[in-house]
Amino acid sequence: MTTGRPEGLFPLFADLTGLDGIGPKTALIFGQMGVEKPRDLLFTLPHSGIDRQRRDSIRDVDPPAVVTVEVEVGRHFPPASRGRPYRIEVTDSQTTFHLVFFHAREDYLTRLLPTGQRRIVSGRVELFDGIAQMVHPDHVLAPDEAEEIAPYEPVYPLTSGLTQKIMARAVAAALERTTSMGEWIDPGVMQREGWPDWQAALKTAHAPGTAADLSTDAPARRRLAYDELLAHQLTLALARVERKRKRGIVSRATGTLQRKVLNALPYHPTAAQERAIGEITDDMARPERMNRLLQGDVGSGKTVVAFMALLVAVEAGGQGVMMAPTEILARQHLEGLQPLAEQAGVVLELLTGRDKGSERAAKLAALAAGDIQVLVGTHAVFQKDVVFCDLRLAVVDEQHRFGVRQRLELGAKGQGADVLVMTATPIPRSLALAQYGDMDVSVLDEKPPGRKPVKTALIGTTRIDEVVASLRRAVGEGRQAYWVCPLVEESESVDLTSAEDRFRRLRAALGDDVVGLVHGQMPPADKDAAMSRFVAGQTSVLVATTVIEVGVNVPNASIMVIERAESFGLAQLHQLRGRVGRGTAESTCLLLYQAPLGESGRRRLEILRQTEDGFRIAEEDLAMRGAGDLIGHAQSGLPRFRVADLERQGALMNLAQSDARKLLHDDPGLTTPRGCAARHLLWLMEQDKAIRLISVG
Ligand code: ADP
Ligand code: MG
Repeated sequence: MTTGRPEGLFPLFADLTGLDGIGPKTALIFGQMGVEKPRDLLFTLPHSGIDRQRRDSIRDVDPPAVVTVEVEVGRHFPPASRGRPYRIEVTDSQTTFHLVFFHAREDYLTRLLPTGQRRIVSGRVELFDGIAQMVHPDHVLAPDEAEEIAPYEPVYPLTSGLTQKIMARAVAAALERTTSMGEWIDPGVMQREGWPDWQAALKTAHAPGTAADLSTDAPARRRLAYDELLAHQLTLALARVERKRKRGIVSRATGTLQRKVLNALPYHPTAAQERAIGEITDDMARPERMNRLLQGDVGSGKTVVAFMALLVAVEAGGQGVMMAPTEILARQHLEGLQPLAEQAGVVLELLTGRDKGSERAAKLAALAAGDIQVLVGTHAVFQKDVVFCDLRLAVVDEQHRFGVRQRLELGAKGQGADVLVMTATPIPRSLALAQYGDMDVSVLDEKPPGRKPVKTALIGTTRIDEVVASLRRAVGEGRQAYWVCPLVEESESVDLTSAEDRFRRLRAALGDDVVGLVHGQMPPADKDAAMSRFVAGQTSVLVATTVIEVGVNVPNASIMVIERAESFGLAQLHQLRGRVGRGTAESTCLLLYQAPLGESGRRRLEILRQTEDGFRIAEEDLAMRGAGDLIGHAQSGLPRFRVADLERQGALMNLAQSDARKLLHDDPGLTTPRGCAARHLLWLMEQDKAIRLISVG
């Protein structure tokens, strides 16, 4: 069997200019819309269609509307002066109207539409001063060429310089180059879904008969979407198998340290926490490398689960490391975990970018000697000269602040070390599968008991004085509050101005000692100081940019004010709100918005009022905003799908994942006929990474 690209696919991966009617210039324009080879044209599907069924007369429709009718060409009226249009009178079976052309050449029009001849014209009819006219018909044909007009004409996405005609021709030429291929989809799935084979699906998708054929539910479209998702999941499944094949480290828990810590905790772990701890402990005991995602909403108690996992590494005689996305969070982890570590007699240290000189050198030496058992820190823990004695587990907290690439880097650091990634961003299952399909997942789907719901209210900015007044009362009662400043165009400096401005105003209203400020551009030491004054209760109100978004834990804070809430993503608002409701007090979240709030803007914020279920919020957010927006493509490493629509076809992703994993399980070498077909699919979908894996395997 060959490992190179299958010959049948060569024509689809050749130069675009090889297609009829595409020269180098047009090819360049196609390139601007990401279409570089005939293959790309196949997966550029029409987004809508135009009904071009023949009618007897334009009288049958309400203008403006696209109409296709047979007419007899009447008199020509060349423009009376420059800038005026050229008009041609035409008559269908019932009425007379005008064809209108701007900047047209007379000789061209007399050839195209000779007086006295019959023509089929198709275009948009509109009323101009009460008279029906068709400006620049899309089609003008002799009656015997009529079948060249499809009764339902596909409309493609274009870029400037392209026309529907060029596109349709190019697509038709690309379709010509396809050959029938072996089926890569499970026969059971094909049958149950009633899907056409690949070639037939392409033909149907490019020649819709009605609007229903354009829907994401149409079988041909679903099949093509599934192809994309299956290729993606096959890649992830191959990566997963590959990783499992590499040797990991066996870290067997003795339970001694875990028990000491559990006894010292003021609470019992939830059932979900226990389950996750069990899954992780089992994974770590296996010879394969662990690659696990711990997903849990804000406040679900991920930290203690991670610590238990780190203790397994220590119990087994090794070391563990936990990386947080910010200095503040790293410090907070250290402070929270230090007492527990002391109970267990475990040596815990902090390493951040601020460690310099001899102090840093001493820490590195202790780490290399194995005297530090658990290291907590920022990215600094993965600098080149940081060497562990026996690293067995790396935990990454709040994953979405790191890219997928960093996740891979981290894996490379400890030879065979287990990896646990934690995320507090509840993401819909389809996206989780797209992004983390290569990982095993533990979910904390239960919150620690005793949490009171957070009261959430929407308030117009015009009422900000009332908000400040009630804040004054709350502060008087010893409560603490966060005040989050608007996210303006994601620019730090603008954020900064608004935060500093708010800080000054709140100080003036509430008193200088009462209000603190923290933002991303503050010198780190100042940031820490502001943070710890708030944690210690020395300040009651903390004005912040979104640096507090992830992970910060101040149980006494029970009020969250978010300015310009409409400019934040729902998931982000949910994260911010999760900062309160952690203590015993009744908590409030005030979403300040700038009126007028549009219909959809209000609906979005209403969802937050209705539910605190992060997963539901994430699903709604996905439905409203789209997948790319939700995670941000660049940083997520989420593939761009040309056909698949994760918002509407998310369920297909589940199917693709189980199908892919099962295929690799049954046919690990991809050598059966279906396995070979799956290889073709990977080539077709340009899954280079997967192709490298199957080539070596
Ligand atoms: P997150 O999942 O957002 O990282 P944390 O680990 O910071 O959540 O936990 C949030 C708070 O809940 C902490 O104060 C922690 O001590 C507390 N907590 C964690 N697990 C439990 C539990 N089982 N019962 C009660 N409180 C818990
Ligand atoms: Mg956390």
